[in-house]
Amino acid sequence: MSWDRQIVLKSPAEIEIMREAGRINALALMEVWKAVRPGVSTAKLDAIAEEVIRSNGAKPAFKGYPGPYPYPATITASINDELVHGIPRPDRILREGDIVSIDCGTVFEGYVGDSAFTVGVGEISPEAQRLLKVTEQALYAGIARLRAGNRVGDVSAAIQQYVESRGYHLTREYTGHGVGRNMHEGPAVPNYGKPGRGVLLRVGMTVAIEPMVLVGTPKTRVLADKWTVASADGSLTAHYEHSVAITKDGPLILTLCEGYPFQPPEGAF
Ligand code: MG
Ligand code: MG
Repeated sequence: MSWDRQIVLKSPAEIEIMREAGRINALALMEVWKAVRPGVSTAKLDAIAEEVIRSNGAKPAFKGYPGPYPYPATITASINDELVHGIPRPDRILREGDIVSIDCGTVFEGYVGDSAFTVGVGEISPEAQRLLKVTEQALYAGIARLRAGNRVGDVSAAIQQYVESRGYHLTREYTGHGVGRNMHEGPAVPNYGKPGRGVLLRVGMTVAIEPMVLVGTPKTRVLADKWTVASADGSLTAHYEHSVAITKDGPLILTLCEGYPFQPPEGAF
């Protein structure tokens, strides 16, 4: 990694712009969430997200992102054992009982909002429901530690403890990250670590917290399309993410809009 060395503190005015980027990203994700049902293709979900982002005067952040080849879509849609970076396709059809992770990034006035959720398609198994609940709660456990004076390791350890004590695994290969004018800035925020270690958190930092949870193993593999990352053993996975600013009053989630379905409990932070 090289992006993780560049930590950029944001002014209150910049954080307000990032809030708008995050709000538009949340609007796009909310419309995708409403459209998830058996029979819909991931390409259709991608088109919905792009329409919302562009109609709000913003641009997709993922499209063209460098990798094995430029990322070709607005969202990533990762089904069941696929953890992250699933490429939307017209022939990828959601089926009853699937779980699908949707990640999306928006650029507004030069600043990025980045967030993700996993949702069930129709009725899902109790095991899948538990995985989703634990991963979403792990996100909030991490965000709760995003306070000036804490260290990155406090956030990492909170996520790791929450997830691993419930019998699940976290990838070591992908991490949360600072976010701002670039989608990936410093500091890296791993989903594992030790309290009291790592970069000191300061007011004005903006970071994307994103637990990536696997049922059977921490190991992943990259599929033939060279982008999609799946669990090495084919077990289910889930991924939730918010972009968050560290303010003098504590963590401020940037990637929310009215009615957004994945919000921390009232008064959580
Ligand atoms: Mg993301
Ligand atoms: Mg991210």
